[in-house]
Parts: sequence; C-alpha cells; structure tokens
Amino acid sequence: MSRMQKEPTIGFVSLGCPKATVDSELILTRLRAEGYRISGSYDGADLVVVNTCGFIDAAVEESLDAIGEALAENGKVIVTGCLGAREEVVRAAHPQVLAVTGPHAAQEVMNAVHAQLPPAHEPFIDLVPPQGIRITPQHYAYLKISEGCNHRCSFCIIPSLRGDLVSRPIAEVMLEAEKLAQAGVKELLVISQDTSAYGVDVKYRTGFVNGRPLKTRLLELARALGELGIWIRLHYVYPYPSVDALIPLMAEGKILPYLDVPFQHASPRILKLMKRPASSENNLERIRAWRAICPDLTIRSTFITGFPGETEAEFEALLDFLEEAQLDRVGAFAYSPVEGASANELPGALPAEVREARRQQLMEFQEDISTRRLEAKIGRRLQVLVEEVDEEGAVARSQGDAPEIDGLVHVTDGQELAVGEFAMVEITDCDVHDLYARVAPGQ
Ligand code: SF4
Repeated sequence: MSRMQKEPTIGFVSLGCPKATVDSELILTRLRAEGYRISGSYDGADLVVVNTCGFIDAAVEESLDAIGEALAENGKVIVTGCLGAREEVVRAAHPQVLAVTGPHAAQEVMNAVHAQLPPAHEPFIDLVPPQGIRITPQHYAYLKISEGCNHRCSFCIIPSLRGDLVSRPIAEVMLEAEKLAQAGVKELLVISQDTSAYGVDVKYRTGFVNGRPLKTRLLELARALGELGIWIRLHYVYPYPSVDALIPLMAEGKILPYLDVPFQHASPRILKLMKRPASSENNLERIRAWRAICPDLTIRSTFITGFPGETEAEFEALLDFLEEAQLDRVGAFAYSPVEGASANELPGALPAEVREARRQQLMEFQEDISTRRLEAKIGRRLQVLVEEVDEEGAVARSQGDAPEIDGLVHVTDGQELAVGEFAMVEITDCDVHDLYARVAPGQ
C-alpha cells in the first residue's frame, strides 16, 4: 500500500439486543486494533459487516432488509449475529453475501474480513508488523495510544506525514484495553511513535475511567493497564527521567519487565545531529539504575550505523556502549537517506558499503552479548505464553520476548500445552536468539 492510499475501511451495521451490541463492540475493537477504519456509512467502505437479529419475524425481516441494502449500496457484505445462525435463511434471500457466521463469533468475522480485505501495512510508518496481523493470534493485540510525534529527528519524516503528537483520551484507551482483555487477549503491546510522551499534548488532562479520575500520562496508564491481569508490554519508550517511575511497576510484576528503547546511537555528537529525544541523558547510568530496581528487565533497542559524519571513533564508541549496556536484544539499520529527511543535508555522507559493514560488525558484536544474556536464564523457571503446539512440542514466548521481533521459547515436551495460555517452564538451553525449555514440574 502506498503512503497515499487510504486505510482499509469497514462499514458496520449493528442490529438487535444489548448482547448483539456487545458482539459488535468486540468486533469493532478488534478491527480498530488492527488498523481498519470504521465508516458510519456505506460510502467509502471497502466492505460492510451486518450484525443481525433473528429474535422475531419482524427482526428477521429487518435484518434481511439491512443485508439487502448493504449489498445494493456496497456489494461486499459479511453477515454475523443471531440470524447468521440460520445461514440457509440468509443465503436463500441473499446468495451473494461473502460469509455468514452466528452470534458471538468475533474470531470468524475477523477471519472473513481478513480473507476479503487484508489489514493495511505501511512499513515505514506503521508500528505493527504485518505478520502480527496476518496470523492474528488472538492472544495478543497492539494498543495504540497516540498518533504523530513532537520530535523532529533528522533522519525521520514521520512528523511531516502524521503531524504532531495527538494522544488518545485515556478513557478510550482503557475501554479498548478492557474489551480486548475480555475478548481473551492475554498480552497488550502498547505502541505509538513516542510512548513516553503520552499526554504531553493535552497537558496530562484528567480523564475518567470507570468513574475514577486518571491523568493522561504513561505512568497512570501503565498502572491502570497493570490491573487487567494480563501481560502489558511497552514499546518505543525514550529514556526520559519520567520512565524511571515505571520500573517499580515492572519489579512488582504489574507490567512486563520489558522496555523497547530506540537509543539509535551512543555518541553525544551523533545523537545531537540526529536530534534525538532525551539525547543528553546519561543512558548507561539510567540502565544501571533500572536494573538495580528490576534485575529481570529485558531491554531491546535499535541503532543506526553510518549516520552522515559518523567517524570510526564514534562507531567504536557505540560498540563500547553496547559492551557496557549489555542490552538483551538489538536491531541495527544501515543509515538510509529517506527523501525529505533533513539529515540528508548533513556533510560527511558515508558510502553505502561503510554503512552496511558497520551494521554487520555491530550485529556480530552484539550476538555474543545477547547469547550471554540468554545463557544466564538456563536453569530458571519462567512463565511463557504459548504460541503454537504440534507433535514436536510447543513454541512460546517469555516475558522478555515481544512477538515478531524477539526470540522464542521452544518447549520440547509441550505437546499438551494450550495455544494462547500461560505455562511455567524450566529453561534447559539456548542459542543466539531462542531459549529451549521443558514444562515445569507441577504444571
Ligand atoms: S521520535 Fe524521532 S524517529 Fe520517532 S517518530 Fe518522532 S521524529 Fe521520528
């Protein structure tokens, strides 16, 4: 999808009793969480979902009429709800409908939507990896808390595409999170362009969540999410002093002891040229302090190699930082000049081979560190969330593994485990990326 194309858009018609409304809300929540836009009219919708009622004849008539209208106005219709349980009635009246499901069938509706209209993915600006959506495992979901960004990193054009930070009201975010938890989601991945900045644009305005006043701020949000009793994972957190207050929540087990902090570099001069947020913070000291409070903290980060003007010494300083920081997971990108980014005007552009060679060198350097971090887990008992089960065992993720970007835990005797459920395992081995484990006794 090009950046200019619109998001996939779903028209939604909801008929029937409060139970049907709850079903509609669940489906709408999932659609929004996956980046679909919801349209109140048929105009501009790529397809229409009709949630029907079949309680009395009049309701059947009304539902069949609504389906007919959606077909006439739009042409692509998925039917769900009570009348959907009588598929033959629907198909007799409207053989052209794309799919028919019964009530409480959010998952089937999502499958039908995916088959007709895959979710959008724009790799440059979307934070949701496409695989995460395509496979749609229902035990985790992305929770987007804001749009846009107030920073102007010199290598990035997101602010010019998406504008300044706009935080979603905390009540709306919490409602979506509660619905997802009720729908059986076991892990929420909090995402945005700059998660630590949540609420800055609305001056941390107080909202009301279940009648309780709550500030639109990351600490309050993390605390409230931590009460849902599921895994809460924070992505795209910049190392501001305010982040320190989150670490005790991690140590207490309220939210996952996991931070995705895109440091991008370690040289103060390069960070300044990059115009990175929190670039003047002493990140090594901060990491040490975080780990003193929460020794199990997993830190993931990304770095850019070969930024314009990066000297050999500055690159070496980056490797020294990695040695000191002992990060758990690291991704690296060779600098690539994005059209419209101000960094392209900087002097000292490096040849593509140098940028790439440094990237490879960094990744090889980090490999040992990541492996040692995993080795330290051998012999430990860890909680995991099960992703897949087959005759060879189970594939799961630990609290230190975000889906799609981090490693996996291979549970070699996990044939009896259930997908989407938590389990306790004992770590027996590791390689560069993954852990190997057995089901813990007493499971
Ligand atoms: S923080 Fe920087 S890199 Fe991230 S979206 Fe904002 S401008 Fe882009």
